[in-house]
Amino acid sequence: MKKLLSLALALAMLTLAAGALAMTPGTYEATVPGMHGPMTVGITVTEDAITDVEVLSNVETPGLRDWVVEAIPAAVVENQSLSVDVVTGVSISSRAILSGVREALKLAGAEDGQFDVEIAKEVPTDEELTADVVIVGGGGAGLAAALSATEAGANVLLIEKTGFFGGNSIVSGGIFNCPDPDLQDYADITSSLDPLVEEALAEEPVDELHKQVQDTVRAQFEEYKKTDKHVFDSPEWFALQTWNGGDKVGMLDHLLFYAERAYPTLEWLESMGMEFAPKINSASGSLYMRTHTAVMPNGTGYFKAFQDTLATRQDLFTAKMDTTAESLITDENGRVIGVNCTAKDGHKVTAYGKNGVILATGGFAGNVEMRVKYCTSEKWPDLSAKVITTNMPGVTGDGLRMAQEVGAQLINMDQIQLLPYANPWTGATSDITLTYSASCYINKNGERFVREDGRRDEMSLAIIAQPDGLMYQLFSADAVPDPATGKTLGDKTVAYYLDNHLAGYVQADTLEGLAETLGMDPAVLQKTVDDFNSYVRGEATDPCGRITWTKELKTAPWYAYPRKPAAHHTMGGVNIDVDTHPLREDGSIIEGLYCAGEITGNFHGANRLGGNAIVDFCVFGRIAGANAAAGK
Ligand code: ADP
Repeated sequence: MKKLLSLALALAMLTLAAGALAMTPGTYEATVPGMHGPMTVGITVTEDAITDVEVLSNVETPGLRDWVVEAIPAAVVENQSLSVDVVTGVSISSRAILSGVREALKLAGAEDGQFDVEIAKEVPTDEELTADVVIVGGGGAGLAAALSATEAGANVLLIEKTGFFGGNSIVSGGIFNCPDPDLQDYADITSSLDPLVEEALAEEPVDELHKQVQDTVRAQFEEYKKTDKHVFDSPEWFALQTWNGGDKVGMLDHLLFYAERAYPTLEWLESMGMEFAPKINSASGSLYMRTHTAVMPNGTGYFKAFQDTLATRQDLFTAKMDTTAESLITDENGRVIGVNCTAKDGHKVTAYGKNGVILATGGFAGNVEMRVKYCTSEKWPDLSAKVITTNMPGVTGDGLRMAQEVGAQLINMDQIQLLPYANPWTGATSDITLTYSASCYINKNGERFVREDGRRDEMSLAIIAQPDGLMYQLFSADAVPDPATGKTLGDKTVAYYLDNHLAGYVQADTLEGLAETLGMDPAVLQKTVDDFNSYVRGEATDPCGRITWTKELKTAPWYAYPRKPAAHHTMGGVNIDVDTHPLREDGSIIEGLYCAGEITGNFHGANRLGGNAIVDFCVFGRIAGANAAAGK
């Protein structure tokens, strides 16, 4: 354990020597509830001081926990106080650490309130800052923009509302779709995807661009059929499928631009150290075998690559954390020149961007008021606070309001995505077991009711219609041969969830036993699995319409855990051109401003394909950064 002794500690020793009860020197541990499960905190004390604090184990959100497990313990030791600031946006985990220290202190014999010492703070003064480029939002798009702007030699000031980088991007599935013909041909798949292409090509084109894209894909598909490859793909097919998958509500010209840049963007990520698993798969809701899966948990690999690279450009990159942007500043010609912000301690920060200001503040699926206001379509029966969310607390649609205030047009605002398989209590996704399609969805009666490789909106609606609006993800040793090594998205093992009774995970040695544990009729569940296996073998056609089959479910033990749809992504937002300039209703550009990431509304239409959002924030974050740096 690290030894941190400071002036505050020395003072604490003196004060305590004067009166308080002595603690028994030694090392103590306490286990307290964290955000997603138990957290064990260890402390070392002398008679009158805390000399070390360490988080010994936890199941906090990957990516977010990194911002607290060092900082909070260090602050406690430094200040000899439990009254340290929590990390904004990671407050539950921060408080869990403090509560662990408090419990451990009791074991050490500390007096109640002994370490509730007020910490003196400097009086804040207002600040006026200038950079070449100001970026609002330190999620995926914001950091991608910071990278390309600094790459171009611009100095960047990034304003982030919370105490961490990552936004919703860091808690995403970390998946990245793009055509990758060499790897795609090694995809584990027993069925042909060619009918999907044929179906899209058989459609009557709705306009000239649609026809042109179909013609291009048709020619590419004919060429592919002459080869011995077994998965067809191309940027144009990726664009067309994304557009069709969003009910043609997105913009096909924007999607062609996006899809063409997807693979070069993957290479850019890899050049910064981002690692993907060596096999392609079809992530749930992606509708095709073109998903690259991050090796690190959730979206953390992207942020490691981004932050490691930005750390080498410290002369050009500054971030103001715990600072909320509130409104844009324009000059007399309507050009955006800066941002008015307020820091957590209340002082004003006025940030001027000489070459441009980028809004990368994400979507609004976690903002109940906004999602209820805008999502007027009949698609979702309920979007009230009763619906859980996967979103981080800092992502509340602020940038949409700011952009609108300077004249930007908002489009497709009624399009919201529910993620079908979130933790029913917390909305978390880090506890999803990675089964790579070798699993099935069943309701509380043990019946299958939806294709697992379908659209996210269709899966979510189907789950909402089941008893209690929930489903179980069912898998077997065929997908996870050993629970001690089988991983969840957040990199914990299946065994961890089972042993700690977390997220509703259950295991049984027989399918019958699993049915009994879940209160299902064993005969119904057995038939569900038998039918499922007959579809995998190609002996029968799945009435739910699933196409991508991988493995039969045959081998014990059996596992299941419950899932519910959660408000996840907003497809609508600022209308931009492909250079990330926000547009007014008359099509004119708002000078000085750039928008990228989930704040924009042009791409995903009525249903975003799983694995397409990271491509979006990387491609357009980069463009925004480069264009803002050049003032273009
Ligand atoms: P994207 O995928 O588009 O990058 P994210 O959700 O990953 O979106 O990131 C959005 C980021 O913007 C989050 O880190 C969030 O805390 C930050 N943010 C949102 N509103 C503001 C604001 N008003 N001021 C500063 N940062 C903000």
